[in-house]
Amino acid sequence: MDTLFTKIINREIPAKFIYEDDQVVAFHDIAPQAPVHFLVVPKQHIRTLADVTEQDIPLLGHIVFTAQRLAKELGCEEGFRVVMNTNEDGGQTVYHIHMHVLGQRQMHWPPG
Ligand code: 5GP
Repeated sequence: MDTLFTKIINREIPAKFIYEDDQVVAFHDIAPQAPVHFLVVPKQHIRTLADVTEQDIPLLGHIVFTAQRLAKELGCEEGFRVVMNTNEDGGQTVYHIHMHVLGQRQMHWPPG
């Protein structure tokens, strides 16, 4: 399935890449909501977090591990937030799972 993020992964649409391995890519969000705002995206297409299966557990671990490692590399040692918007009520707009990583500003709770 060709999603916007599949096109970015396949370099059909440009993005500012931070990281790539055999399972995931990471690139800067086009509309950053914090001084640091990037997305960690699996190469495998999964529509939403609600669609993952037990088989995907290692991949999800890899996404989280990559998110925190890159956050620290990009200067978010003071803290950062990870978010996976899920389906309509969750505010998801691109239906290819991705972890937002935001940092270098004070976050507030609850989110709007
Ligand atoms: P969602 O709303 O699904 O949680 O997150 C989708 C994110 O993808 C949004 O933060 C949006 O700014 C980002 N985005 C949408 N289109 C593009 C694009 O073409 N390039 C990049 N780098 N980010 C995008």
